[in-house]
Amino acid sequence: MQKKVVILDLYRNSRYRISKDTCGGYGTENDFGHGFIAKSLGFVAKFSLFWPPLAALNLLSEFKNNNLFSSIYSQDINDIDNSIDYVFISTSIVCANYELKETQQLVKKFPKIRFFAFGSFLNIFASRYREIGVATITGEPEFLFQSYTIDHKNLNLFHINGNVDVIKKDPNNLSLPLWVNDKNTATKNFLFGYRNGYLPIIATRGCPYSCYEYCVYPLQQGRKINAVTPEKLIKDLNYLHNNVGSKNFVFRDPVFSINRKYTNELLSEIEKNNHKNFSFTVETHLNNIDDDLARLFKSAGVDWVKFGIESAVDDVKNNVNRYSLKNDEQIDTVAICSKNNLKTVAMYILCQPEDNYETHKLTMDYSRKLGTNLAQFSLFTPYPGTPYYEKNKHMINCDNFELFNQYNLVFKHKIFNSISARKELGKAYSNYYLNKALKFGNK
Ligand code: SF4
Repeated sequence: MQKKVVILDLYRNSRYRISKDTCGGYGTENDFGHGFIAKSLGFVAKFSLFWPPLAALNLLSEFKNNNLFSSIYSQDINDIDNSIDYVFISTSIVCANYELKETQQLVKKFPKIRFFAFGSFLNIFASRYREIGVATITGEPEFLFQSYTIDHKNLNLFHINGNVDVIKKDPNNLSLPLWVNDKNTATKNFLFGYRNGYLPIIATRGCPYSCYEYCVYPLQQGRKINAVTPEKLIKDLNYLHNNVGSKNFVFRDPVFSINRKYTNELLSEIEKNNHKNFSFTVETHLNNIDDDLARLFKSAGVDWVKFGIESAVDDVKNNVNRYSLKNDEQIDTVAICSKNNLKTVAMYILCQPEDNYETHKLTMDYSRKLGTNLAQFSLFTPYPGTPYYEKNKHMINCDNFELFNQYNLVFKHKIFNSISARKELGKAYSNYYLNKALKFGNK
């Protein structure tokens, strides 16, 4: 008889959108700061944008691909009952306390179920899960099936052991994205105008850039690039489209186009196979974009390009090992994107350790000058597990991990406090979007 598996992905109540897929699986909560514009954008994000964490979806696909199990994805604790054999908890920083508390209650209520937890933030919370009788998965969970024979006998052994390490990771041997057939995995992105879903997909895992100092993607996926072949990616895209009809995809690669040769091959293959007019959103580094690549992006169906700018001030970026193009070069590269009809989203980080009111003003002025379609501002967050956090633990003045959501100041800053930081955030959104509205009104 098939064993029953639930991939449980719990979200605490929030007035804001919570995503566990962003920020390297640590997750974010879109509470954009003080002020009417920031609050309105937060409201729009909450009601228009959602997809489950890709790691949870991929793990579900692996279970669905194995006829020893029947499996579902759920965000509802009421889906757990005594008929279930295994529950896999999707963990994050942004719901860390809630996930742990709810899991603790489930473990007490259903002593026969074997619980496992996974997620990149779990490195920090692993002992707390083990203490309550939950086994932990170290590494990207979808590769569990490549690392071991997964049957109920081995799962039971792993549970007794308390931890299982994912050791092999070949993305080409992953199952088709069978998760898309699960009724609970619906996604939405009305913000970008996509009415029939917006599906996450990944081509390259890992990021070797120097900003791993403060970034959590390398914690989730490592610093070495791990790429899927173009053939496998196209097979997955077609499977997703054929099963739910969606044509809109968001690449969840930390830095899409990090390897130029691979990216050229991938985009050329997508272009050749893209008879159905798929559209893509990618996140990349401006350093990788030139006229040729921008043209290839467009011809392959890329519509939106997101990238980190972080700050307009070199000293601010250098302090946290951020590598960027020069400000003028970034303006030229955004112009190349516009010329090729690519829409752009720039991401900025305020309240970095070397920031002050003057550097913030320079960054806000620059955000208007850069000419992107959208801008996103967040606050510098020293994430547990990163080198920056380890070196600056003594500066952390917040003991609630759920507030490490990129929109609260969680460390002692030499200029800003928690209130002034959120005012600066609101100011950045107002400056940028009011300026855009004025320009639009003057057309
Ligand atoms: S480029 Fe830097 S910020 Fe972006 S994913 Fe890589 S390490 Fe993280």
